[in-house]
Amino acid sequence: ALRKALTTAPCDCSTLRRPVREPAVITAADLDHAVSHGEIYAAFQPKIELATGKVIGCEALARWDSATLGPVGPDLFIALAERTGAIKELTLQILRSALRLAGEIGRDDATFVVAVNLSATLLSDPTISEDIGRLLREAGVPARSLMIEITETTAMGDVSLAMDTLLRLRIKGIGISMDDFGTGYSSMSVLAQMPFCELKIDRSFVSHCLADPDLWKVVASSVAIARAYNMTTVAEGIEDVATWQALAALGCDGGQGYVFSPALRHDGFRAWRNAWNAELRVKGPPASQTL
Ligand code: C2E
Ligand code: MG
Ligand code: MG
Ligand code: MG
Repeated sequence: ALRKALTTAPCDCSTLRRPVREPAVITAADLDHAVSHGEIYAAFQPKIELATGKVIGCEALARWDSATLGPVGPDLFIALAERTGAIKELTLQILRSALRLAGEIGRDDATFVVAVNLSATLLSDPTISEDIGRLLREAGVPARSLMIEITETTAMGDVSLAMDTLLRLRIKGIGISMDDFGTGYSSMSVLAQMPFCELKIDRSFVSHCLADPDLWKVVASSVAIARAYNMTTVAEGIEDVATWQALAALGCDGGQGYVFSPALRHDGFRAWRNAWNAELRVKGPPASQTL
C-alpha cells in the first residue's frame, strides 16, 4: 500500500530527540546567535488530500540544530523568539526556504501550496504584509502558492491591526489558515470576523478521535463549522490509516500526520514526494486499495 512509500523515504529522526540541556537554559543570546548564523531551518510536512491521497502541499516547521544545545523543537524557542523580537528574522528565513521549495515543486504541480506559521505577534507588525509580498516577488512564486497559518492566542493583541494585516495578505491572493482550531478561547468570534480560507483541527482532537467519542464530536463539528463558513478543513496529527479513512468519509478535505510523513528537510521532502507520487501512480487512489 501507500504506506510502503514511508519505509523507503528518509526519516528526519533528529527532530524526535530531546534537547541535551533543559529548555530553561536557552537564552535570548543563544537564539540571536542561532538566527544570525542560520542554525534554524525549515522542515516540511506533507499535506494530503484525504479522498485521493494526492500531495496538495506542505507545512514549513522551524527546527533548530544547535551546535551547543543539540536539536531543539519549536515549542521550546518560538515563544522566546516572540518575546525577544527574533521571531521576525526567523520567520523571514523560514519563508525564504518555503518559497524556494514552492518554486521548485510549482514547476511540476502549479496547485502545490506551502504553508508557513506566522506568530500572532507579527500580525501587528506594520510592514509584515509588504515583507511577505517582497519575498514572493524575489522568489518568483505566485501568491496562491502560499498559505499563512495563524494560531489564535491572546498575543493577537490589537485585533483591528491583526485584521488589517490578514486582509492585506488575503487581497494579495495569499491563503489564510486558522491553526490549532478548538484550542483558543474565542475561536468562534474570531472565525466569524477574519478572512480565513482553511481551518486546521488541532492534533489533540484528531490523533485519538476514533477511540474517544467526545474527541470525535469535536472533529465532526469542526468540519461542519468550516463548511458553514466556506472554509476547507485540514486535520493535523493523523497517525493511522483507520483515522485517515474515517476523516475522509466524514468529508474532511486534507490531513497531515505521521501516517503520511513527519516533517523532512528540503531534499528529504522532495524525495518523499517523488516516492509517494510514484506509488500513487502504480497503485491508484487509496480508496481502491488500503482504504
Ligand atoms: P503546528 O503548526 O500545529 O504544527 C504541527 C505540529 O504537530 C508540529 O510540531 C508537527 O511536527 C506535529 N505533528 C505533525 N504530525 C503529527 C502526528 O501525526 N502526531 C503528533 N503527535 N504530532 C504531529 P512542531 O514541529 O514541534 O511544531 C510545534 C508548533 O510550533 C507548531 O504547531 C507551530 O505552532 C509552532 N511553529 C513551528 N514552526 C514555526 C514557525 O516557523 N513560526 C511560528 N510562529 N511558529 C512555528
Ligand atoms: Mg501550523
Ligand atoms: Mg497546527
Ligand atoms: Mg497544533
